[in-house]
Amino acid sequence: MTTATEKQAPTPGSELHFDVLIIGAGISGIGSAHHLKEQCPDKRFCVLDSMDSFGGTWLMHKYPGIRSDSDLYTFGYRFKPWSGKPIATGEEILNYMGEVIKDSGLDEHIRYKHKIMQANWSSADKLWTLQVTLTDTGETLTYTCNFLWMCQGYYDHGKGYTPDWQGMESFKGQIVHPQNWPEGLDYKNKKVIVIGSGATAATLAPNIAEDCEHVTVLQRSPTYFFPGKNENPLADQLRSLEVKEEWIHEITRRQILKDQHDYVKVAKDYPEEVKKELINGITPLLPDGYDVATHFTPRYRPWHQRIAFVPDGDLFKGIRDGKASMVTDEIECFTESGIQLKSGKSLDADIVMTATGFNLSVLGGINFSIDEETIDFSKLITYRGMMFTGLPNMAWVMGYFRASWTLRVDLIGDFVCRLLRHMDDKKARQVNIALGEEEQDMELLDWGDINEFNPGYLQRARHRMAKRGAGANWQHTQDYWVEREEMPNIDLDEGIFSYQ
Ligand SMILES: Cc1cc2nc3c(=O)[nH]c(=O)nc-3n(C[C@H](O)[C@H](O)[C@H](O)COP(=O)(O)OP(=O)(O)OC[C@H]3O[C@@H](n4cnc5c(N)ncnc54)[C@H](O)[C@@H]3O)c2cc1C
Repeated sequence: MTTATEKQAPTPGSELHFDVLIIGAGISGIGSAHHLKEQCPDKRFCVLDSMDSFGGTWLMHKYPGIRSDSDLYTFGYRFKPWSGKPIATGEEILNYMGEVIKDSGLDEHIRYKHKIMQANWSSADKLWTLQVTLTDTGETLTYTCNFLWMCQGYYDHGKGYTPDWQGMESFKGQIVHPQNWPEGLDYKNKKVIVIGSGATAATLAPNIAEDCEHVTVLQRSPTYFFPGKNENPLADQLRSLEVKEEWIHEITRRQILKDQHDYVKVAKDYPEEVKKELINGITPLLPDGYDVATHFTPRYRPWHQRIAFVPDGDLFKGIRDGKASMVTDEIECFTESGIQLKSGKSLDADIVMTATGFNLSVLGGINFSIDEETIDFSKLITYRGMMFTGLPNMAWVMGYFRASWTLRVDLIGDFVCRLLRHMDDKKARQVNIALGEEEQDMELLDWGDINEFNPGYLQRARHRMAKRGAGANWQHTQDYWVEREEMPNIDLDEGIFSYQ
């Protein structure tokens, strides 16, 4: 570890200067580091993360039952076979990432407890300079790099999103957000309300139900769920035939991706039929005469948000056993003993768990500037959701929301490595993205298409995000199947790229 002090500008070759700095040691940062090491072996690079270890999301979320909601054949990297059950626990995902770090020799390239506060691009030096606070000592270090690879995730890691409900301060019990789960929280024999209806609420409720007196899942509106066995018959069959794990991974991935592609198409073409099918899938798992229309019939179209997979139908078992129940209503206010609902009913609780989502963080809360002038990301235009107009030598990994996040980590990894090699071939130290002449008056749109995908945290933060425009270059499609074809064929010499 280095001992350099504040504002000493590092020189090339020093411990604080790198060709590439990767920000974040979550699943995106580790995957990107693997690709960089493999595809650009000459680049000196370092991964910086503010936490004490790798894993990001999977390290910080500690609520009971934390697990993936997509399968690990596609949430896992394309280069590292997954051999466990398709839906994995947080711990299994961390173990998998740990193996990647070991296999790829990444350990020596990662520095933890490094929180990036500021990043300034100098046009004169063609360098990024980062002000980094060490979270244990409070010391500030100055790092520099030629290229910045942002893998900082999409939400504020400090605090989850909890709406500001009236009367919260009067509640005599405990209010807990799953993102900031208190160690040793005692919910045994307690009355618990879980607010929310997404994947977190659906995971949390059945995992604590057995120990609690009762768990009430309080939702404003219902969500689609897809119950199924936590197994992949194709992978199991291939394994029984002693097929190599690398092949099983690849074949199973292809099958899952094909099935998902077909499913998205059907869901878009026949939303009502798919909706009916999803609801019919859960009805038999609920008690006879259960009010499925109120609690499990969503108002949005299937695939507008990720459909939460419920392994082995555990959420529904809790409801059948009488340990968990659903309430679909709106919160009027908190009271001393619980929650008053708009319908007039009230719910008592010892603990309220707010599985109400995230605060979106635009690029890790880092203060970005160019030649010391602060950048307002809402004034920039995104290049395919991975670079920005006017921001040189920087790429951003925002994964997929509907398909597995990591599929995009691999695609962007290939793209950035190709771009870095291309810059070397041209002996360029800077790459810029700019609109073509004919695009100057292009209509600008919100970052994400609300008709395609509309989770709350994106809607709340739309005004802070970069803009989209017409034409493939300026779209952020969130469509793996389109990008899989387009990204490898991007012409790095087309007019929107300029090199110096
Ligand atoms: C509970 C939960 C379950 C999920 N399940 C799935 C799923 O099943 N499938 C799926 O596709 N997606 C899922 N997601 C979305 C998930 O966040 C991503 O799939 C993925 O794990 C994100 O990885 P990441 O590396 O991009 O970001 P993160 O995991 O958020 O990691 C980012 C890292 O960057 C670091 N960082 C951020 N800002 C700074 C800074 N300023 N300085 C230094 N370091 C910084 C953070 O400390 C963190 O370690 C889930 C999300 C949650 C919260």
